[in-house]
Amino acid sequence: MSVRPKVREDHPFLLSTAPVSRAQSRAASGVLGLLGAAMLVTVPFAQVPIDNSQVLVPAYAIAVFIVDLITAALLLAMYSVQRSRAVLALAIGYLFSGAMVLPWALTFPGVAQSLGLPEAGLQTTAAIATLRRLGFPLLVLAYALMKETDPDPQHALESERRVIAGTVAAVIAIVGGLTWLVLTSEDALPRFMQDENRVTAHWRYVPVSAMALCGAGLFALWVRRRCVLDIWLMVVLCTLLIEIILLAYLSSGRLSIGWWAGRLFGVVSASIVLVVLLAETMTLYARLARSILAERRARETRLTALGALSATIAHEINQPLASMVTNANAGLRWLGRPDPDLAEVRAALERIVDDGHRSASVIEGIRAMFKKGTQERVCVNVNDLVTDIIRRDLSEAKLGRITMQTDLDPHLPAVTGNPVQLQQVISNLVANAIDALSNVTDRERLLRVRSSQSDADHVLVSVEDSGTGLDPALRERIFEPFQTTKTDGMGMGLMFCRSVIEAHGGRIWVMDNAPNGAIFRFTLPSAEELMSLTGEATP
Ligand code: ADP
Repeated sequence: MSVRPKVREDHPFLLSTAPVSRAQSRAASGVLGLLGAAMLVTVPFAQVPIDNSQVLVPAYAIAVFIVDLITAALLLAMYSVQRSRAVLALAIGYLFSGAMVLPWALTFPGVAQSLGLPEAGLQTTAAIATLRRLGFPLLVLAYALMKETDPDPQHALESERRVIAGTVAAVIAIVGGLTWLVLTSEDALPRFMQDENRVTAHWRYVPVSAMALCGAGLFALWVRRRCVLDIWLMVVLCTLLIEIILLAYLSSGRLSIGWWAGRLFGVVSASIVLVVLLAETMTLYARLARSILAERRARETRLTALGALSATIAHEINQPLASMVTNANAGLRWLGRPDPDLAEVRAALERIVDDGHRSASVIEGIRAMFKKGTQERVCVNVNDLVTDIIRRDLSEAKLGRITMQTDLDPHLPAVTGNPVQLQQVISNLVANAIDALSNVTDRERLLRVRSSQSDADHVLVSVEDSGTGLDPALRERIFEPFQTTKTDGMGMGLMFCRSVIEAHGGRIWVMDNAPNGAIFRFTLPSAEELMSLTGEATP
């Protein structure tokens, strides 16, 4: 078992393509050992007669018929997925074996009589048994020989329903035709039986041929074994061999214990592939269900990311858009006066132009954020960014009676980054602080932005407020998308801040302010530190 041939990867979840695990090999060997032991136990009693054929033979036949039929149905289902002609041949084998057992049982001496049917000739049952015994291993051999060939394109194009219906009809027709031939030409049949229970010398060719076919099938499967189905078919052929040995050499003829034990092995052999198919199908089904769930989760994450992206864009450009509309309306009102104030109109138009530029740079910043590796990075002084924002938001702060303070380290090292994105981060944090302060009535509304050097290589920025403080329900998820406590909020701002800061190699976090409010802090690596990490020169 040293050479492990290449496993086909087109249908890794099918029994006819799934690779053999060590546990599978061990289970197959275990079953074989058990069956061998069962045969040895039977040997001492093999010649004792049991004659209850009118009940036991039809019961045996029905068991084999049902098991073979279910196995064939599962194999045909496998064929419809995989379109392998080898699997189709195997399904035909099971279909043929299952269908042939019915005429075999109905022509068995005594059975027809007990059912009120005309008794068949002496050689009929043996002839049908011969066809069945040789047909099945022949089709397993065909499976083993064909399994290497890929389905030809013409075959793959045909409708699988038509192929399956045609196959089933052909097997029924063949079984019916053969039965009719055997029933109507009793005189031409080989003389296998000397009486109802004992065989003639001619019979010995049948077990020998059947064993030769089983041996050839075993060899072909052994050489070309690739999948779970192969090793279990090898067990099936071994069980068939035991059955033949019991029936032909150890029993004293029909209806002895050895003969019945052989029949029992027949049922076991018929059931092996069915049991393995069902067990493996359940395992593979569970594996498939798990991978579908994982795929669904991945899709949901992708959708959330997509939603987050669109919401970020909306969030970031909504503000300049609203401001543009307000300024445009103001401009129209100034123009609509009997004595238009052109200076005010010009001022409104300038604000609109500013907002237009701001929106464009926001979009450019977002585009750069999601376009990995192509961010425009320049040397940035964080203090300048903070000062710009404070100046811009001063009038709003005054309106809200908020005291704005800055505590900026004049020796702050520069950072390398995208100034538009970093400005948006600080702007978001300041806007949130202003929101958190808007409902405070019992204390000073204080907003302070500090900058400092957190260590030799990092810049630290804090935005502190004496506002309402963090909502405990939100604390853990505050940086995740769509987390908001505001009626008109989108919960995207902090997610955006985190993405930008992390993309710049920094870290952002939040903590409670004493005695009231919240502190948002982020660090950024200094330009020198980033240079030493990436080995790049600062632009
Ligand atoms: P949005 O502002 O649209 O709600 P953000 O992601 O910017 O989205 O903020 C998410 C939530 O975090 C806010 O709804 C608010 O509950 C909370 N939050 C943010 N900043 C502060 C702050 N300074 N003080 C208290 N809570 C805050």
